[in-house]
Amino acid sequence: MAKIYNFSAGPAVMPKKVLEKVQTELLSYKNSGMSVMEISHRSSLFSEIQENAEKNLRRLMDIPSEYDVLFLQGGATLQFTMAPLNFANNFKRIGFINTGHWSQRAIEEANLINGVEAIEIASGFSSGYTKLPEENRTSEDLDYVHITLNNTIEGTAYKEVPYMKDKFLVGDMSSNILGQRYNVSDFGMIYAGAQKNIGPAGLTVVIVRHDLVEKSPNLPAMLSYKKLVNKNSTLNTPPVFAIYCAGLVFEWLIAEGGIDVIEKKNREKAQLLYDFLDNSSLFSSPVSVKNRSITNIPFVTGNSSLDAKFIAMATENGFVGLKGHRLVGGMRASLYNAFPIEGVKELLKIMQKFELEYKG
Ligand code: PLP
Repeated sequence: MAKIYNFSAGPAVMPKKVLEKVQTELLSYKNSGMSVMEISHRSSLFSEIQENAEKNLRRLMDIPSEYDVLFLQGGATLQFTMAPLNFANNFKRIGFINTGHWSQRAIEEANLINGVEAIEIASGFSSGYTKLPEENRTSEDLDYVHITLNNTIEGTAYKEVPYMKDKFLVGDMSSNILGQRYNVSDFGMIYAGAQKNIGPAGLTVVIVRHDLVEKSPNLPAMLSYKKLVNKNSTLNTPPVFAIYCAGLVFEWLIAEGGIDVIEKKNREKAQLLYDFLDNSSLFSSPVSVKNRSITNIPFVTGNSSLDAKFIAMATENGFVGLKGHRLVGGMRASLYNAFPIEGVKELLKIMQKFELEYKG
């Protein structure tokens, strides 16, 4: 098998050790004679998997005891609907910080809920979303404020979480959860699709403050945090295999030294690429220096046919998933937790070669 480096934005590269562990346990989990895919979600084997996954996630993120942890389905996209249904019940107005595609998707979905209004309290539109807005307007009559911590497509990210006075934050952490340190108590709720830093697609992690859950209205079961919390995420059949894999990823991350250690490594990987881009005569980063993501790094040559040529050459040489999102074009390197620093160093070599050939 040829060596490849997977720069995909998601589903994304998994830790090799985790995949090997899955492989050894695939046919018979803990000598049960059954694969994890075959065990009942009501069995003690599965309860143990879920309990350990939750315990290790709490340890990694320092999740305070007044927060519930849910393992759900429907992707981060379903949370665009669930958060408003559960929390936008007083003023029926939600403040949104619009930092690009995924916050706009969240705005669109919130506006589809009867009586709920999404208010854009800040926007990065004027910079083409290459900068995060500096000022966030707030007003009394908002139920909460929604923020996208890492903008997977545009390549911006928050280092510090904005303070919204007496409004709680709902944070979409899909693309940088466990990749950099945030303080859980800065949020009323955090959600993330699993398929980047957590595990296989099909699982969504929700971390939510219990008093907010308690105050939420009576909703259809699968849309109600309260009912899901009361049933410990097993109101129906949970994504057993995905939770099992997520649990292994959490164990791997603890063995690696936890979030602070992996964040340092992530910063080193990103810095290598940014330093190259800032000194290149061909490639550049379109993103404002102080708002740059350490996870998703878009870059361009400024010429779309050269971009296409570079992507084709890179793909041929085993650098996969480098094509930028169709909305922004160019290239994008996604450097999630499991992505090795050697992959960045190898990428720089082919970028250098390409630069010499086309820029001289
Ligand atoms: N939010 C962000 C920041 C994302 O990057 C993505 C997917 O890439 C989503 C939401 C949508 O996630 P899902 O496909 O799990 O619904």
